Amino acid sequence: MKLIMLGAPGSGKGTQAQRIAKDYKIANISTGDIFRDNIKRETPIGQKAKSYIDRGELVPDEVTCAIVTDRLSQEDCKGGYLLDGFPRNLRQAQKLEAFSAPDAVLYLETEDSILLERIGGRRVCRKCMGSFHISSIGDTTVCPVCGGELYRRDDDNPATLSARLDVYHRESAPLAGYYRERGILHTIKGNATQDEVYAAIKRVLDKLQ
Ligand code: ADP
Ligand code: ZN
Repeated sequence: MKLIMLGAPGSGKGTQAQRIAKDYKIANISTGDIFRDNIKRETPIGQKAKSYIDRGELVPDEVTCAIVTDRLSQEDCKGGYLLDGFPRNLRQAQKLEAFSAPDAVLYLETEDSILLERIGGRRVCRKCMGSFHISSIGDTTVCPVCGGELYRRDDDNPATLSARLDVYHRESAPLAGYYRERGILHTIKGNATQDEVYAAIKRVLDKLQ
């Protein structure tokens, strides 16, 4: 299966992507995680991406598309892939279409008010990349899953978040229409518990298989 997760920042796409990848044994590719890893290792890609990410803007398409096509060419993507965070605009979608067309797009639909609340309390694990909310784990720096260190992402501050939401509405949300026209869009209500959202995703995926 070649799958795309589409949804706003905080829609839960990263969390759901991790569960899907594990249960269905698909290579999970998160462009945000790849960029953060490059920033941590201070690679040329990381240095280039950082200023865009800090401002809540998209990293230029040349950089992002090259990373994704390179990653999709690796052995573990032969049987399929799950893309979390790509494509994020029409040009990226067209590039992907030409390189390796997706079978299904899981679109997590949510309202901005929920996103603000979720991201405001989000903590991310440096080790397993898991994402958690302080309302369920409390004010801790220890990952409940792997014991790794939890931190608050630099771009999860109110100013950057508002820029990210603007970019999402302007550039990424129109992709729902693009994939609806191609008949591969599956809309899932993101305003539900993680388990409820995952159950809805499973119903879609089990029908596709
Ligand atoms: P979220 O979905 O919560 O905003 P991500 O981890 O997916 O978080 O992305 C973080 C940042 O990484 C984005 O705001 C953007 O700057 C950059 N980024 C991630 N994916 C892409 C992409 N496909 N194209 C351009 N920039 C991207
Ligand atoms: Zn962890």
